[in-house]
Amino acid sequence: MIISVASGKGGTGKTTIAVNLALSISNVQLLDCDVEEPNAALFLNPVIAGKKSAFIPIPVIDKEKCVYCGKCREVCEYNAIAVLPQSEQSKGNILFFSNLCHGCGACQYLCPENAVTERNREIGIIELGNAGDIQFVHGKLNIGEAMAPPVIRQVKQYINPTRTVIIDAPPGTSCPVITAVRGTDYCVLVTEPTPFGLNDLKLAVEAMRKLKILFGVVINRCDLGDDKTEKYCRDENISILMRIPFSEEIARSYSKGEPIIKLFPEYKDRFIQLFKNITEERGTGWKEKQMC
Ligand code: SF4
Ligand code: SF4
Repeated sequence: MIISVASGKGGTGKTTIAVNLALSISNVQLLDCDVEEPNAALFLNPVIAGKKSAFIPIPVIDKEKCVYCGKCREVCEYNAIAVLPQSEQSKGNILFFSNLCHGCGACQYLCPENAVTERNREIGIIELGNAGDIQFVHGKLNIGEAMAPPVIRQVKQYINPTRTVIIDAPPGTSCPVITAVRGTDYCVLVTEPTPFGLNDLKLAVEAMRKLKILFGVVINRCDLGDDKTEKYCRDENISILMRIPFSEEIARSYSKGEPIIKLFPEYKDRFIQLFKNITEERGTGWKEKQMC
């Protein structure tokens, strides 16, 4: 089973849930797909055994073959190509902005002159290792790069189907989180009971329903804020899988990179129960209720 852990906004405790869940059950692989700010490694201290380049294929344009027809510019959804057509005063020119290129390959595919080839541009790295019995993989986007999805896709290539896979997704509801949660069997949405938390939870719920991914909610710092999140989940038939009350000790342990279950061993049973809740929900009629 592949479980993603996501949140509509940052700072809700998503990584805490992913890491403590991974530490509480057996035969686990954890993929940290929050490639702009991967910090699961701070809690798990994995021994890194391998490193690979993460890249996107970008076009290389042969100006000898190019006739400056502009087809590549027309098909580029990301405005990564500008073409100055030939005229009496100029032989034409073509400009390529590599930072805007998403590596979709359309320009190469559609160039009528076969003037476009591809080369790989490194945009980050993938590191693989082990944290005790946990198989660990994370991606790190290079500083200044904006293209998280290709790195996330490359991290997900290492999914080990013989294990329970936990994916720590990026926060939000944009392309990176969609890339991370797509294809997972269940998504745990971590939230907090504040107006911002609820607003972003609603967006995340909408995204899960569009993607048809089964999901449930964990409410972190559940004793702060108000009861509107609980009410929203009740009204929407969304299962609350776990509630974690605010604790200064937990906050302090987080800032020191210590998993909750190391400081409070009694939490291990609660995370095992969280896993049971997820597996039970997968096998019941919640899907129909949540998708409606
Ligand atoms: S489609 Fe090909 S020939 Fe036309 S401008 Fe682009 S690279 Fe040049
Ligand atoms: S590969 Fe795609 S995104 Fe990149 S320049 Fe070509 S058409 Fe644009």
